[in-house]
Amino acid sequence: MKRIAVLTSGGDSPGMNAGIRAVVRKGIFHGLEVYGVYHGYQGLINGDIKKLELGSVGDIIHRGGTILQSSRSEQFKTEEGQLLAIQQLKSSEIEGLVVIGGDGSYRGALKLTEKGFPCIGLPGTIDNDIPGTDFTIGFDTALNTVVRAMDQIRDTAQSHERIFIIEVMGRHAGDIALWAGVAGGAETILIPERSFDLDDIVKRLEHGVERGKKHSIIALAEGVMSASKLADILKEKYGIETRVSVLGHIQRGGSPTGFDRVLASRMGARAVELLLEGKGGRAVGIQKNQIVDHDIEEILKEKSEPIGELYTLSKQLSI
Ligand code: ADP
Repeated sequence: MKRIAVLTSGGDSPGMNAGIRAVVRKGIFHGLEVYGVYHGYQGLINGDIKKLELGSVGDIIHRGGTILQSSRSEQFKTEEGQLLAIQQLKSSEIEGLVVIGGDGSYRGALKLTEKGFPCIGLPGTIDNDIPGTDFTIGFDTALNTVVRAMDQIRDTAQSHERIFIIEVMGRHAGDIALWAGVAGGAETILIPERSFDLDDIVKRLEHGVERGKKHSIIALAEGVMSASKLADILKEKYGIETRVSVLGHIQRGGSPTGFDRVLASRMGARAVELLLEGKGGRAVGIQKNQIVDHDIEEILKEKSEPIGELYTLSKQLSI
């Protein structure tokens, strides 16, 4: 193998740049030429491919987002789009591809591998919702962004004796809400993977008030319902006034934490090793602090689950 390429796809996440840098440098270290595909799979179809040198990835390890840009491509979901993408790679004499993205991007990487073009997937998403890895690239940064916001909101919640609902990202996965809720001392944590009982939540709020607690934080994953809807229900059904804060896209951006930079560096390097070993269709992960790899197809059949023990603990610590 002489030439490989790297692309970022789907939702961006902090640490993707550290992953790109690792792929480029590790590849060059082993004597490979490394190409960057710009604008994800759509850029691949369009032939938006440029050679990356050691210096092309200088000064990016600390930057959020992705220097290769990302995109969502409907055309790539078609067989014709995938064949066009492979044609582009072959015409540039590229023999292996590293894809950094979420599960949608993994599906694309699997399709290319099934058509004979070896791809390796790196889990780049703030949601921490990829099976086969304890952490995804960007989750730790997003978690810390939310915890900072929560600390600031707690100051005002405390001063004004208010209940705040903080809506965080996570349409299908509650890890950001769960981890940030525990780290930020939220009294209530609502995530899509667990059902909840509003009467019970209200009871807990009232119990807090009885013992002199005058402010409270509810960490709400967007996949459960919107913060404004929950606020309306609490007001109409129980007469409870709340304030709402929707954190939105600030959770996606920002300089990656040291943890995410190291994680992305280790995973990017492993992806290059796998291609050099002649492997494709593998998803890189971290489990028990070891870099591992699994069959992408198997990973896509599984469902990531929040840590049950952490959810139970969150309830025990917020009584
Ligand atoms: P993420 O990778 O963050 O989950 P998406 O689900 O939007 O983001 O997927 C990113 C891109 O991956 C899509 O725009 C599409 O080009 C490609 N993709 C997603 N699902 C498939 C699929 N089933 N087959 C081929 N490509 C896919």
